[in-house]
Amino acid sequence: MSADWRAQAACVGEDPELFFPVVEEGPLCEDQVTAAKKVCARCPVRDACLEWSTLYIHVGIAGGLTAEERRCARVESLEPLKGRVRRPSPRDDIRAAGFALIAQGESTQDVAARCGVTDRTVERWRAAISA
Ligand code: SF4
Repeated sequence: MSADWRAQAACVGEDPELFFPVVEEGPLCEDQVTAAKKVCARCPVRDACLEWSTLYIHVGIAGGLTAEERRCARVESLEPLKGRVRRPSPRDDIRAAGFALIAQGESTQDVAARCGVTDRTVERWRAAISA
């Protein structure tokens, strides 16, 4: 998939924190999820984002769905492969968070600092996204 669609994303310019609720439940979380989903609802590249984020983003709101909603969609799509697919590890979640931050336009240094990885790792992630 081409990474070109990201340039048209409705979330470009939005606060990336909006898509990563600081609490996992309760009114504050619901308000934040609703606000993020409103941005996604007006996004012209939501379908492409949903396809990509369902595969690669395991945290936060993307493609108009929460991480849990995407996880359910992913499990349903992988049902025919049940038993042959490894479970995501914490490292996968860190990479997924990094991918999401890159997609939000964060700098290499910021992504590296927030994910606890080197700049070189972030550059590898960028290359993978662009491939
Ligand atoms: S997270 Fe995805 S669907 Fe939502 S605004 Fe950003 S690019 Fe669009």
